[in-house]
Amino acid sequence: MTSNVIGMTTSASVPTGPEGAIPAGGTVTDQLVEANQQYAEAFTDPGMDARPVRQVAVVACMDARLDLHAALGLELGDCHTIRNAGGVVTDDVIRSLTISQRALGTRSVVLIHHTGCGLESLTEEFRHELEMEIGQRPSWAVESFRDVDQDVRQSMRRVRTSPFLLHTDDVRGFVFDVKTGLLREIEAA
Ligand SMILES: [Zn+2]
Repeated sequence: MTSNVIGMTTSASVPTGPEGAIPAGGTVTDQLVEANQQYAEAFTDPGMDARPVRQVAVVACMDARLDLHAALGLELGDCHTIRNAGGVVTDDVIRSLTISQRALGTRSVVLIHHTGCGLESLTEEFRHELEMEIGQRPSWAVESFRDVDQDVRQSMRRVRTSPFLLHTDDVRGFVFDVKTGLLREIEAA
């Protein structure tokens, strides 16, 4: 487990040289910035405001194999996407959902966990390992889980029982299969 901690605290920085010039074959971030310049060249202002067209917020794991827009047939401007490790409903997710519903007009919530999630191989022991390594225990829970279906049910319950949300009648939860690309719906408890 210690190797997880070391792996996750690795950081790399490559100097950009004088005037912040991007070196040839630079960092991954340099590649992203370059890709953005091409994106912007083809981009036309869609003239939308900030309210999601389809009035839906999607809460999902940050997993790199989950392309939410492609997997759900979503277009630019359709939805809010709120992502974190596991797609778990933390206080900060409730914060985003509250703003999404009360300030920006969304009414539906879709929760997506997935097969092969990294959170299934962690335990709350991870916090103890961090404390041993750096002398400070994080204030946040790891929110690891053993049973992905059960964690989706718990996440639905956290959304449905939140006193801050205006709309809790259309809250549905799913597990995305990273091998088939299919969603499997989880019935609420
Ligand atoms: Zn995951």
